Amino acid sequence: MFIDAFRSEEISLSEVDICIVGSGVAGLSLAREFLDSKYTVLVVESGDFSGDNGTNALNAGIIDGLPYRALINGRTRGFGGTSELWGGQCTRMNKLDFEQRDWVPFSGWPITYDEVAGFYPRAAEVFGLRRDVLDGTCTQDFPINELGIDHTTLQTVYSAFSPKRFLGRELRAILEQSSNISVLLNGTVTELLQDESGSRISGVSVRASNRSELTIRAKTFVLSCGAIENARLLLVSRRKEEKGVGNRRDLVGRFLQDHVIATVAEIDAKEPRTLYRGVCLVRRSGGIRYSQKLGLSDDLQKKNRVLNGVATIEYDDNNVIVEPLVRVYRALRTKNLRQAGLRDYMTVMAHPMAAIRAAATNLGYALPSAALGGSARLSCVVEQAPNPDSRILLSDSLDSLGVPRIKVQWILTDSERNTLRVMAETFTEEFNRLGIGSVSRFDWIDDDGSDWGKNVCDILHASGTTRMSDNPGSGVVNTNCKVFDVENLYLAGSSVFPTSGYANPVFTMTALAIRLGDHLKLNLSAE
Ligand SMILES: Cc1cc2nc3c(=O)[nH]c(=O)nc-3n(C[C@H](O)[C@H](O)[C@H](O)COP(=O)(O)OP(=O)(O)OC[C@H]3O[C@@H](n4cnc5c(N)ncnc54)[C@H](O)[C@@H]3O)c2cc1C
Repeated sequence: MFIDAFRSEEISLSEVDICIVGSGVAGLSLAREFLDSKYTVLVVESGDFSGDNGTNALNAGIIDGLPYRALINGRTRGFGGTSELWGGQCTRMNKLDFEQRDWVPFSGWPITYDEVAGFYPRAAEVFGLRRDVLDGTCTQDFPINELGIDHTTLQTVYSAFSPKRFLGRELRAILEQSSNISVLLNGTVTELLQDESGSRISGVSVRASNRSELTIRAKTFVLSCGAIENARLLLVSRRKEEKGVGNRRDLVGRFLQDHVIATVAEIDAKEPRTLYRGVCLVRRSGGIRYSQKLGLSDDLQKKNRVLNGVATIEYDDNNVIVEPLVRVYRALRTKNLRQAGLRDYMTVMAHPMAAIRAAATNLGYALPSAALGGSARLSCVVEQAPNPDSRILLSDSLDSLGVPRIKVQWILTDSERNTLRVMAETFTEEFNRLGIGSVSRFDWIDDDGSDWGKNVCDILHASGTTRMSDNPGSGVVNTNCKVFDVENLYLAGSSVFPTSGYANPVFTMTALAIRLGDHLKLNLSAE
């Protein structure tokens, strides 16, 4: 059932078993676990079905440091959350990503890769993929495996595109009929309320625009508002504790990570078709679109003491049209035409054939024309090292609901730069060895004096702001994603990632949300 918070005078809500705040991938994949169960669930969502009910303005904050695109472009409020924008690319993290690496301070998950990977098959089902989609069996005969890559330096990696990526749309009719799960739309949680002892959340305050306030009561609360907003909600809830809920050790909002993307070299390919076939964006197998990529091997990361990273090949003709095309596509899809600028619409209209070709390339039906002879570029995505100074804080200004806006200090270190450099060197050597073509690195990559931050940006994958740990001195949630010191508050989403490898976050956050669902069921049944 869906309820509209704008009609708050008509709403009477009794205490539920679980209140999930936020209906993005994390919130909905958790709620999905409780369909037809004996437990009552209420999902509280700031947006609605319209694509923008005005609450996106609540996302605005202050950037203090490097530009951070994810703050505004990386998330949207509405039923389904940012799954309305994402590319649907599902990727596993690697075993090494979970280990403590002595060359990466603050690395290491308190749970093993296998504990998370056990949930990947169930995550695949959420996105309409085969359970074995990314275990290597479906991709063995891909052309990338014919390049003769030296696997002691580079490893082949894959991601699969979900055919059911708009999770809100997939679940809307099911939830409409559900007898145990309700969704409150247009309701923004403004504060978590603690009981007298401070050890439990007694309720959450919900506001609909600037109208009256509701209090939702539940046995258990889960925040799944995205990595930025999860931290913000904890920080702003200061009625009982000066630094906010779960923040006695000043860790909430710290360790903000994203993935860092940069184009590092020009490739003059001897056989452009071979290169494109091998390291192109899209292959199809069993009706599923896959992306083939080359990543740094574990051996190379250990030997060079670098972070994880992955590369793809980028072609010029794609660049001109793809970004405007994506913005126009999103604007039309979400029926919010202002998501694209006038220039975007004009660019797409002025190059209709290029737009069709770019769309066909992206779907795996065509080669970019540059792949047939033009120059290509090496595009690298690297892990960001966890860094307590890279963080989300509260600013002095308030949003329209009276909640402090955030300030983002996204900070990169030499670790990311060094990883980009090692990637450029490794690909140069390997492509030369294989006779694929010559690689010319851009000057900034080797120039220690350059302002290298200008050449990189985030890729809208915020994570790490409420990291998981096995002790409260070094994290915000425990291994079950429960906030330390608070008995009934859990967090879902990439905010709990201690490190994030290079992998796009959704597949792993979904696996963790399903794992959390199993844990909550056990907990509730024991009560
Ligand atoms: C253009 C783009 C492409 C991407 N492509 C990929 C990709 O291919 N693969 C991948 O893995 N990742 C991708 N990502 C990243 C991915 O989309 C996000 O990491 C993911 O969707 C976040 O899911 P979430 O559930 O944690 O948060 P969100 O989806 O952001 O959901 C949070 C929800 O909480 C609600 N909310 C927030 N605050 C409150 C509040 N106070 N009260 C009530 N509700 C609240 C919001 O309205 C929202 O609906 C992409 C991102 C973008 C922007």
